[in-house]
Amino acid sequence: MGTRSLTSGVRAGGGNTGWLWMSSCNLGLPVLPIFFLFWLLLAAPGARAAGYKTCPATKPGMLNVHLLPHTHDDVGWLKTVDQYYYGIEPDFLTFMPTVLSDVQHASVQYILDSVISSLLEDPTRRFIYVEMAFFSRWWKQQTRATREAVRSLVRQGRLEFVNGGWVMNDEAATHYGAIVDQMTLGLRFLQDTFGSDGLPRVAWHIDPFGHSREQASLFAQMGFDGFFLGRIDYQDKFNRKKRLRMEELWRASASLKPPAADLFTGVLPNNYNPPEKLCWDVLCSDPPVVDDRHSPEFNADKLVDYFLKLATSQKKYYRTNHTVMTMGSDFQYENANMWFKNMDKLIHLVNKQQANGSQVHVLYSTPTCYLWELNKANLTWTVKEDDFFPYADGPHMFWTGYFSSRPALKRYERLSYNFLQVCNQLEALVGPKANVGPYGSGDSAPLKEAMAVLQHHDAVSGTARQNVVNDYARQLAAGWGPCEVLVSNALAQLSNNKQNFSFCRELNISICPVSQMSEHFLVTVYNPLGRKVDHMVRLPVSEGLFFVKDPNDKSISSNVVMVPSAYSKMYQWELLFPASVPALGFSTYSVNQVSSHNHQARNQLTRPRKPKSRVIVIENKYIRATFDSGTGLLMKIENMEQNLSLPVSQGFFWYNASAGDEESSQASGAYIFRPSVRKPMAVSHWAQINLVKTTLVQEVYQNFSAWCSQVIRLYEGQRHLELEWTVGPIPVKDDWGKEVISRFDTPMKTKGQFFTDSNGREILKRRDDYRPTWTLNQTEPVAGNYYPVNTRIYITDGHMQLTVLTDRSQGGSSLKDGSLELMVHRRLLVDDERGVMEPLLETNTGDKVRGRHLVLLSSVSDAAARHRLLAEQEVLAPQLVLALGGSSPYNSQAAPKTQFSALRQELPPQVHLLSLARWGPKMLLLRLEHQFAVKEDSNRNLSSPVTVNLQDMFQTFTIIYLQETTLAANQPLSRASRLKWMTNTDPISYPAPSVLDPTSVTLQPMEIRTFLASVQWRDHS
Ligand SMILES: [Zn+2]
Repeated sequence: MGTRSLTSGVRAGGGNTGWLWMSSCNLGLPVLPIFFLFWLLLAAPGARAAGYKTCPATKPGMLNVHLLPHTHDDVGWLKTVDQYYYGIEPDFLTFMPTVLSDVQHASVQYILDSVISSLLEDPTRRFIYVEMAFFSRWWKQQTRATREAVRSLVRQGRLEFVNGGWVMNDEAATHYGAIVDQMTLGLRFLQDTFGSDGLPRVAWHIDPFGHSREQASLFAQMGFDGFFLGRIDYQDKFNRKKRLRMEELWRASASLKPPAADLFTGVLPNNYNPPEKLCWDVLCSDPPVVDDRHSPEFNADKLVDYFLKLATSQKKYYRTNHTVMTMGSDFQYENANMWFKNMDKLIHLVNKQQANGSQVHVLYSTPTCYLWELNKANLTWTVKEDDFFPYADGPHMFWTGYFSSRPALKRYERLSYNFLQVCNQLEALVGPKANVGPYGSGDSAPLKEAMAVLQHHDAVSGTARQNVVNDYARQLAAGWGPCEVLVSNALAQLSNNKQNFSFCRELNISICPVSQMSEHFLVTVYNPLGRKVDHMVRLPVSEGLFFVKDPNDKSISSNVVMVPSAYSKMYQWELLFPASVPALGFSTYSVNQVSSHNHQARNQLTRPRKPKSRVIVIENKYIRATFDSGTGLLMKIENMEQNLSLPVSQGFFWYNASAGDEESSQASGAYIFRPSVRKPMAVSHWAQINLVKTTLVQEVYQNFSAWCSQVIRLYEGQRHLELEWTVGPIPVKDDWGKEVISRFDTPMKTKGQFFTDSNGREILKRRDDYRPTWTLNQTEPVAGNYYPVNTRIYITDGHMQLTVLTDRSQGGSSLKDGSLELMVHRRLLVDDERGVMEPLLETNTGDKVRGRHLVLLSSVSDAAARHRLLAEQEVLAPQLVLALGGSSPYNSQAAPKTQFSALRQELPPQVHLLSLARWGPKMLLLRLEHQFAVKEDSNRNLSSPVTVNLQDMFQTFTIIYLQETTLAANQPLSRASRLKWMTNTDPISYPAPSVLDPTSVTLQPMEIRTFLASVQWRDHS
């Protein structure tokens, strides 16, 4: 079908060479930036992609069997990343049976060594590699000669990169921003190392446990031609085989105009494993090919016969005369010679049969070359518009537990995403002075890499062993340090003030030494959003009264509340004050303590008290929440602005985790959710309550049990209700594993429908006991209706909408009309037999978890405007940086600044600044996103296209040259091309690319536009 330009009608960008102008202060001859030369080289004729042109010849008219030699190298699972790379056995193995040791001997360095020498032995052999977290590490350790040999293998297509992200990311517990970041990191390594020869054409998610629609959309926007999957629901797969729909076109966005988010998607025949009896790895026990007829072990004839039958029967489920066999599995090819020697023989023996009339041709191939044949087949393909969740690999076996497994790690990952974006932004805004400054060497790279590792499908998913999870947390913590230095350098530079900056990493448990120990301190609040933000600062303090001054040295209102500590029996004090922070900037507040012996001050401390009236209300001018004083539970939420009132009861329940029963031996575990009975138990039918009311906040403290409590909170001026829950350690001494949910029950008529987000971006409609593309035989009425909730879930009766936003990924559902539930924590006693071989039984770190649900009640027409903007604020929350008083000016020529914005003007509400990061010495990466879907907002017209002036957007640097690229920034958009596919839907139009004008960049609903900019930083003193 040939190729097409990726640029389509939804993009305004993509001129021939980008856009170049000289800044007004730049005198002299026009100079081409180095960056520009780089793109010229990259795009020069003859610099062709290895991809399709190096594919092996196939035999038309025959059944071509593409052998795909591959290894699946988890970036952490039963062993840590480093243990897998070097092949170290973790300590616990010395006490375990050798069986486990055999399964996971696993050493990636030896795999790559071994594969490269096997490839060099025979030019017909091919291999694919996926995980750049491992490959880049190996590459750094190679000699110049080995590197040259590898480059040549890549150029010839004999070593091919597929996917090419840092890791093969999870799709259920990941946020789209972090997916884009991790893919960008891996693909950049390939681009820098191999140029266009290393460009992956195919996405390869053979192990993730279910597939999100957003993932496919992102891959399409990155320029991938096709996507291969391993795991899909067993019923779905059965139906697809029957209906010849194992390969389809996935239309992965309801907003982006086709083909922007169209991705050809194929389901592999055997997950990602080799066919039975054909596994020739050192980890397998299948007999090698014996082709010596004189040997008593001769088995070649039998094997050929078996292979021909296998190939023919597999072909029945696919539409072309091509089929694939995945030759490899977890950490295979440590002795690549075993695999290749036997496949060499197999190929020779099978193809020899063609002389006797066999119509089967077997060859070494790659997913890219297989895809190329499918494309050339010139068929019309069906279109898929839903996703592949939830995934079940058999009756009662729903992989919906991992949506919620290890909630503490899931929150740490999301919080780290937030901090990484702050770090990236400040590095971009300040330039080299952020890297080297008064606080030492700052660096965003370690956190970037740690965050990329965390996206792996056993990391943020919560499905790795405890020791590996500890190592993931260690990697994140190690990444925070150099970013804290960078942020300090940058803030000193931007504020002209060198302070004793301090970061409170434990604010989630109300610990912050600077605010707790000092009588005078400064709070700098950095806002990573493109719009001004109002944020209630809340800090633990010592007993006393505090005066707070804003950036203009004016006193502002503040409260001190005494709150029960969730981590001890003691009470503690928290200071609250409202901060207002400009777009992409900061505001600095100063806090001074008044003596705690001051009587007047003591009386102003607000203590929680027992409510006296029968009905308890917390309210501000927008929201009112009513509680039953008898039960202590929430009864009603009202939106006063819109005159909406909804009875809502909310409480905590737990499902008793199945340990296997007569129907099925399947237990609930790290991956699988399987409650023993349908109905969850209430943690408690009532809560002990305390009330706090100050001028800035009204709170109801609910205590359900020794291990479950909640604060329901309403800040002044806030349009949502905040539910801060603390759950754990979940008691399991009764030998019952427990899966704890927070459930909202309302009388809304919701027709068995609810809505969940896909990786934090587009919204998908869910229906109980229903799948859009096949007739479901439901075996688990609870677990089989669970879906990933990355940022939000909602229900609606067509008039009003109840939306709950989460602060991390969780599993959620609506199991009866008007009801909505989220799984907040789980603690289990048995393993679910999916390989991790460890029950999900966190002790110490991770056993007690605190999180927030933000609840919005609004009219349907207003709902998107509310939840889109609130979710954006939640993911990119303001960053607090504290400092003890008594700072020194950083630059004696300039006065210190207490407030700053890097934007010349605020971005419109539709526009989300998805990425702003350093890309090179004088280059930045920029991504602008339209954060509303088509027709989502009718009220304020936020679903219409929006145009911004990128040239004049930033204060701290001038854009000298701008190039639009694909989503992962590894190809200029104007040069990127994708395969065309014919579908059974309306014909697709491919409009010509338009010229990029940086003064007028238009974004269509849900569109992300990615740019590389050559910049010059301004001196902002
Ligand atoms: Zn895996």
